[in-house]
Amino acid sequence: MVTPSRIQLARERRGMTSAELARRSGVSPQRLSGYENGRGEPSPATVERIAAALGFPAAFFRADDIEEVPSESVAFRARTKTSKRRQKSVRAAGALAVELLGWLDRRFVLPAPDVPSYGKPEPELAAEMLRARWGLGEAPVPNMVHLLEAHGVHVFSLDPEYDDVDAFSFWRDSAPFVFLSTGKSAERGRFDAAHELGHLVLHGHERPLTGPEAEREANAFASAFLMPRADVLARVPAGAQVDQLLKAKGVWRVSAMALAYRLHDLELLSDWQYRSVCRELAELGFRNGEPGGIARETSQLLAKVLRRLRDNGVTPARIADELHIPTAELAKLMFGLTPTAQPGADAPDPEPRRPVGLRIVR
Ligand SMILES: [Zn+2]
Repeated sequence: MVTPSRIQLARERRGMTSAELARRSGVSPQRLSGYENGRGEPSPATVERIAAALGFPAAFFRADDIEEVPSESVAFRARTKTSKRRQKSVRAAGALAVELLGWLDRRFVLPAPDVPSYGKPEPELAAEMLRARWGLGEAPVPNMVHLLEAHGVHVFSLDPEYDDVDAFSFWRDSAPFVFLSTGKSAERGRFDAAHELGHLVLHGHERPLTGPEAEREANAFASAFLMPRADVLARVPAGAQVDQLLKAKGVWRVSAMALAYRLHDLELLSDWQYRSVCRELAELGFRNGEPGGIARETSQLLAKVLRRLRDNGVTPARIADELHIPTAELAKLMFGLTPTAQPGADAPDPEPRRPVGLRIVR
């Protein structure tokens, strides 16, 4: 039996319309639409054709029903700029990540989620409250991905082709998920991670996630979370010059532009000084990139998981196989940490033993 939701998900993941899939698979649009809506059962040969056209193993389409990530639960940065089709594709990646998490959850004791839903306070205050709750004080955050993982946020990566999406996040039941594009500078990636954390904390399950107001709040949260007011005031003099700013940005591991914005926000730069600093930074190439930037942050949890699995003879190829997804899909979600498969390296035991605890150092 084929699972209708899985045909739709794979098609959306590939950014294909029904007409396109019909053309590529040689199955009529009417029959395809029927299969996606649970009317009619394709023959094994037809499933093979659909699978080949979508680049998913045929077994993917026969597995259990898969829950889509609802559009309204996703905070897309620039919803208006991103086409519906691309939004569906990244949401489909999100649904695959939920599947992957379920697989990992049966084998490992993952850190429990500790992400409060504040809802009411101003972003600056929410950032301070969360810092206090997580015991961060006023100290810079060495690694945003590790910090999120230590507090039970499931962090996955998006392939760089989705550079118009940057990042997105959602709650699935009580589990927070964050997806980060790997196409931007590392500093931008950190800001994106803090921005999505802002959505999770400020917009929780109830308040609308989209629109300029939610974006403004998430940005303000990220800025305050990464660059705590007291720490910035203690370290950066009023009216700082570009060279001072470029030295200081390394403290908080943020982009020069993000620090300039924060300094202006904290009234350490006047309107005029801020504009002139931005102009100078743009001339130095800091608008579209981060010259001399830091190394990209990556998942500590997924790296540990992969190492443990490998020690037990379980390769990424087998994880992909058990999830019935292409290995490339797995690699895209896992920050490219999965090396190319070595055939024959798998041990014969596919069953989980006792779930293994993981310690995540933030
Ligand atoms: Zn956002």
